[in-house]
Amino acid sequence: MTSIFTPKPNPSVEQDQFLTILSREEAIARFEAALFPRQLPSETRLLADALGRALAEDVVAPIDVPPFDRSNVDGFAVRSADLANAGEATPAQLALNDEIISCGTAPARPVLPGTATAIATGGPVPRGADAIVMVEHTQPAGNGGAIEVRRAASPGQFVSYAGSDIARGEALLRAGTIIGSREIGMLAACGIADVRVVRRPHVAILSTGDELVQPGETLRPAAIYDTNGAIVTAAIAENGGDASFLGAIADDEAMLEAAMRKALAESDMLVLSGGTSKGAGDVSHRIVTRLGKPGIVAHGVALKPGKPLCLAVCDGKPVIILPGFPTSAMFTFHDMIVPVLRRMSGLPPRPDARVAAKVPVRIASELGRTEFVMVSLVEGADGLIAYPSGKGSGAITSFAQADGFLKIEALADQLPAGSDAEVTLFTPHVRVPDLVIVGSHCTGLDLVTAPLARAGLVVRSIAVGSLGGLAAAKRGECDLAPIHLFDDKTETYNTPYLADGLELVPGWRRMQGIVFRKDDSRFAGLSAEQAVRAALADPACIMVNRNQGAGTRILIDRLLAGSRPDGYWNQPRSHNAVAAAVAQHRADWGMTIAPVARASGLGFIPLAEEHYDFALVTVRKQRPAVQAFLDALVSDEGRAALTAAGFRPA
Ligand code: AMP
Ligand code: MG
Repeated sequence: MTSIFTPKPNPSVEQDQFLTILSREEAIARFEAALFPRQLPSETRLLADALGRALAEDVVAPIDVPPFDRSNVDGFAVRSADLANAGEATPAQLALNDEIISCGTAPARPVLPGTATAIATGGPVPRGADAIVMVEHTQPAGNGGAIEVRRAASPGQFVSYAGSDIARGEALLRAGTIIGSREIGMLAACGIADVRVVRRPHVAILSTGDELVQPGETLRPAAIYDTNGAIVTAAIAENGGDASFLGAIADDEAMLEAAMRKALAESDMLVLSGGTSKGAGDVSHRIVTRLGKPGIVAHGVALKPGKPLCLAVCDGKPVIILPGFPTSAMFTFHDMIVPVLRRMSGLPPRPDARVAAKVPVRIASELGRTEFVMVSLVEGADGLIAYPSGKGSGAITSFAQADGFLKIEALADQLPAGSDAEVTLFTPHVRVPDLVIVGSHCTGLDLVTAPLARAGLVVRSIAVGSLGGLAAAKRGECDLAPIHLFDDKTETYNTPYLADGLELVPGWRRMQGIVFRKDDSRFAGLSAEQAVRAALADPACIMVNRNQGAGTRILIDRLLAGSRPDGYWNQPRSHNAVAAAVAQHRADWGMTIAPVARASGLGFIPLAEEHYDFALVTVRKQRPAVQAFLDALVSDEGRAALTAAGFRPA
């Protein structure tokens, strides 16, 4: 087998497969061995601009702090020997020197035996004095020319000696210290105006792909917005890098190579995303082999998500190609790139906050790959529950809505339901949601929960479908399970599915019907039954179906009465996907709900109302957030919002 270090003589005829899949640990070890140890470049920064930076060298105190013996109180500088015999019955009288030492005033006269000098807090102790007596412990005497003291003073009382805080020549701060406000205070106390800190590595970021469009621009057909560019740029800044995003480059080898060479010349590190699989047009990894030595150290890592990760070092600079899928890109970035970036910035490893939680459902895992599973945390009957996010590695929302992730070791093929797991949090602290809704998702939910969010309640809605929600409710893992389950026998919705401990809260009705493009004359003016008959009569007409188990699917199958027209096997899992298929001409008709049809600008033939209700876990009913939800559901505001969006409140 070819070594991964061997330059490829003719990349264009090379067989496009991952040469060696490394374990996560082996890939990290190779990457770090090629990068460290290394000299971290430093720069001088003004104190005000040094916050959060790592000190590049030890700082030695140039002066004593305080620079002189200093009074800690308002009072009188005295010779303690003069007060050796002072007591209630034997007051000592001291003549006042003709001087008041305020802050910032250097004393001019000595304190001779039998005398005292008035001194303010922070004033320098005059020659001859060795203690301070608090003003509260003295009486004026001799017409204001003297004081009377009725207690002894120990030598050094209320004096801060020169250098007692910081001694000249002492190591004030060590190299590697992260500069916070307290460190800035110490430096300022010593009169230090600027410090040598580790220079932030300049990190260039490039996205790759013909399909990418920058946010703010118009999305053309078959294009998607560049997500990785923004997220990687932010994550680099979060971890001590000086990030500059250079845009998205099309999958053109010459253009991409020019952009990569320029970016690398101007920076300390280059992070790309996309183009690292072995698909047609994936060229970035080939270019990396030409950028410098030793080149690629790992391409293909036993990680899920994140297998196509490519790690390289080109003449001392790290070059990383993250997988294209945003969640894969983020996992690999945080797991494998952040530690390197922080080390290059002089920052300590990021502290990971972890919590223990139970996994409520079985999670299957691929044998041989370390698998990361994003989870949402909710409060169960005894302890935290970690719900796996059901979406694939291409889903960006699963990253944003999750609280953290758990890891399934490469040698496990599953995590059984009920397992104890350790969850690494995305943020230092976990805030478990006040209201947990697990079940079928509906855009109407956001409308009803809006006032809860305004009141500062955290609402978490986890989409697992009606049956998944019911199961969660029966296990007591949520407050409410939204369901829309039709029972064939009783011809009713939802009620027949309830179990002990659950009660039904009526939600709203969703009109389901046939969608078609408004300019399609085959369907205009027809009833649902007529529309389906017209569709079946036209062999060129393509439908889009729904997944098995969806309430909508039952209605479609009834209308089709056994026919299997073209498109029947296209069975997406959401109302929106049906509308998108029809709007984009991939299908000519399908069944979805009225609000979705309206939002997509499609024609709609109403068929039947679906009941979207809530299975409420009775023991959780008295929780304030549940009460707030029940109130919002029947409030004028909630009903008006639902109606305006095309739902019919029950
Ligand atoms: P690739 O590795 O280039 O084949 O990309 C894999 C998947 O990730 C494809 O669906 C790409 O469209 C998607 N992808 C690649 N780069 C980005 C990006 N910057 N933002 C969002 N998605 C991306
Ligand atoms: Mg690509």
